Amino acid sequence: MSAISPMTPNAFAAPPIRQTGILIGDEFRPSVSGKTFETINPATEEVICEVAEGDVEDIDLAVHAARSAFETGPWSRMDARDRGRLLNKLADLAEQHLDELAALETLDNGKPINDSRAADLPLVIDCLRYYAGWADKIHGDTIPIRGDFFCYTRREPVGVCGQIIPWNFPLLMTAWKWGPALATGNTIVMKPAEQTPLTCLRLAELALEAGFPPGVINVVPGFGPTAGAALVQHPQVDKIAFTGEGTTAKIIMKNAADTLKRITFELGGKSPNVIFADADLDAAIAGAEFGLFFNQGQCCCAGSRLFVEESIHDEFVERVVSRASQRVLGNPFDTETQQGPQVDKAQFDKILHYIERGNAQGAKCLTGGQRYGQRGFFVQPTVFSGVTDEMDIAREEIFGPVMNILKFKDTNEVIQRANNTCYGLAAAVWTKDIQKAHKVAASVRAGTVWVNCYDVFDAAAPFGGFKMSGIGRELGEAGLANYTELKTVTVRLG
Ligand code: NDP
Repeated sequence: MSAISPMTPNAFAAPPIRQTGILIGDEFRPSVSGKTFETINPATEEVICEVAEGDVEDIDLAVHAARSAFETGPWSRMDARDRGRLLNKLADLAEQHLDELAALETLDNGKPINDSRAADLPLVIDCLRYYAGWADKIHGDTIPIRGDFFCYTRREPVGVCGQIIPWNFPLLMTAWKWGPALATGNTIVMKPAEQTPLTCLRLAELALEAGFPPGVINVVPGFGPTAGAALVQHPQVDKIAFTGEGTTAKIIMKNAADTLKRITFELGGKSPNVIFADADLDAAIAGAEFGLFFNQGQCCCAGSRLFVEESIHDEFVERVVSRASQRVLGNPFDTETQQGPQVDKAQFDKILHYIERGNAQGAKCLTGGQRYGQRGFFVQPTVFSGVTDEMDIAREEIFGPVMNILKFKDTNEVIQRANNTCYGLAAAVWTKDIQKAHKVAASVRAGTVWVNCYDVFDAAAPFGGFKMSGIGRELGEAGLANYTELKTVTVRLG
């Protein structure tokens, strides 16, 4: 592992900070209370800037702006095709500002600049364009009911959508939430994660530049128990879309009950990544590394239970450990860096705690296991072998660069063990045997199954969880269903 100093010549420059206020209507403003909070650079632990801290009153103002844009503003009368045009314009602006937005993401979140530029931003732009294309293609059916009637359905927007997102893919989660909501004619109040508010605010500024009418997109940075909870409880909010942890989702579900809001959740996982002995081993090892360590391990769909068939286990472990120990950690603005810091101190502590639990419960730490460096929230890429199903590191979401390798003997056994979890977000299987691949794909209870690949995302392919990994789907045509109400109209003809 090599450290790279912040001053290396191929390091990207830090971006300007343009927006730190609350967006309500068409104005970025301070919070009603005047309070602010710090957002921290996780690579240096230094304060980047102060951001306006929204609370109940700010949420109320934002919801009223969104409600009036939905009921009476130009948005409510806009042709669907023009909504699509605006989304395309926003995508164009994001593309024009790709370097700036990627750098801002890296600054606030700590992810390597190569990832922000080559993964996050292209996926953001693609998602906005994909949903721009849907705007004028959302329609109902005509239905041949009994009698002399003309019956048809309309797909109408749900209304004001409260959207609460986490910090692991701040801009991408913004695009996943805005794309379908705007294509279908809703208005939005978004609360970004307290750790990473900056790119969402900048994209909101670009949305105003694109020409979205005031009040269509409102952004209230702040904390979950205050701003987030106020959004969930507000009677004028029709729907909550949330990505984050299951325990938070339970609180949101309870808080949304009084107003019977529509809710969609994209939650955590403990995804099985199953490597059979007949797999292309080079590809499987690369896929195991990418599937776990990408984004510092902070992925809801991380392949965090790596099941390896007994006959190839030892060779696999040796090769994957060698790759993990050679990963380049350091300044996320350096183009050589593969792994940046964890997002904050809480995540850093949580990961080190799980490493301790792994050691204490008898797993074998083959590489890593420690903090990396003295400054910033860096954790060494860590690999445990000898992991068993009941260990904490095999059951709970670590959300960090900690790979857990479990041995298996046959297909039925690994399917049963893969499903022995409360989660069901993603899974992968590596094999050259097409029957085995399809058998596992059909048997694993998860919203996404990758075969001989990992983390392949596309705006057109639905994503979401079985079991306690979520409710509803994002992306694809399925993602539109969460943002529309179906209306049946019946007209007497005779
Ligand atoms: P949370 O679920 O707490 O946070 C996600 C979002 O929900 C944030 O915007 C947060 O606000 C907000 N929130 C928190 N409490 C409430 C509430 N009562 N009402 C409404 N909104 C609320 O996740 P954390 O960031 O605390 O991360 C903890 C763990 O969650 C991670 O270690 C990881 O295991 C998991 N996680 C899963 C993700 C996924 O994609 N499935 C993404 C991120 C985390 P605030 O900004 O104040 O935190």
